[in-house]
Amino acid sequence: MRFSEIYSSPGSPVISFEVFPPKTSRGMDSLREVLPRLAALEPRFMTVTYGAMGTTRIRTVEIASMIHNEFGLECACHLTCVGASRDQVDGQLKHIHGHGIENIVALRGDPPRGQDSFQAVEGGFSYANELVEHIRSNGRFDIAVGGYPEKHIEAPDFETDLVNLARKVNSGADVVITQLFYDNQHFFRFCEAAAEKGISCPIVPGLLPIQSLAQVEKIAGLCGAEVPSELQDRLGSAGDDPEAAAAAGVDWCIEQCAGLLEAGVEGIHYYVLNKSEVMEKVIAGLRARELII
Ligand code: FAD
Repeated sequence: MRFSEIYSSPGSPVISFEVFPPKTSRGMDSLREVLPRLAALEPRFMTVTYGAMGTTRIRTVEIASMIHNEFGLECACHLTCVGASRDQVDGQLKHIHGHGIENIVALRGDPPRGQDSFQAVEGGFSYANELVEHIRSNGRFDIAVGGYPEKHIEAPDFETDLVNLARKVNSGADVVITQLFYDNQHFFRFCEAAAEKGISCPIVPGLLPIQSLAQVEKIAGLCGAEVPSELQDRLGSAGDDPEAAAAAGVDWCIEQCAGLLEAGVEGIHYYVLNKSEVMEKVIAGLRARELII
């Protein structure tokens, strides 16, 4: 089932998970153990990220195929413009489609290590909107793109970034999945501004349940997300107790989800980091509050 059908079907908000291809065979073994537990939480679909370069790229389709064909779940492969010509993108799309996968999360990707700014390869794409247009012309996939409630880190300002988001949607994206954020006000402001730009497809919040103060500071630093002082205080007061910090992270995530679901979001996409315990707690918390089925 394609993204457009998933988000237009009646029922509970669409819960989805993102996993990444591990670098090692041990990581693959651990992912194989985690996948049945994630599948048992009944997400409507899962997505598999695409590495910067190297061997994990091959695993994207392998893992997506496993999720789709062994667990019977809808799945999407991420695809970036990094290091890829149009012909190579076409080869990857053919490979993905050959595994029965009909959804792509289309991204530009970050500049490879050692490069200050993104450079397209000869015959490649410079921005995600060009990749979206190309995939759309292929006709066999529905497409999600990334959105940035606190603006993309390279964008000069929020307004310019929104114009560029509209470009991606107008090129054929069916859904926007956002970068993680910890203050829902950023998401609500982003959705309002996107609507003013004529963006009418679903905008799905992407959330990463946090496990420690050090983790949230590192991740937020990388993507520019604000860490609200209340979240810092709650994680800080857990001190050196990792279980208390993890519990504070789960509580924050459930509160954030409750605010989003009560505001009527069409779904929530979770960056699960190839683990299941935290998601089990978050989903149980949302079901206990009858916010999802
Ligand atoms: P773009 O939409 O191309 O935007 C990049 C920058 O260029 C922005 O500042 C934008 O404002 C500007 N811009 C966009 N279009 C134009 C234009 N036509 N002209 C001028 N400026 C423009 N990375 C991975 O490597 N693998 C993954 O699997 C992956 N998955 C992700 C999933 C999600 C949901 C998100 C939100 C991000 C993901 N990323 C992934 C990270 C992503 O690749 C980076 O954030 C990257 O820096 C930007 O990608 P983009 O598709 O948003 O780029």
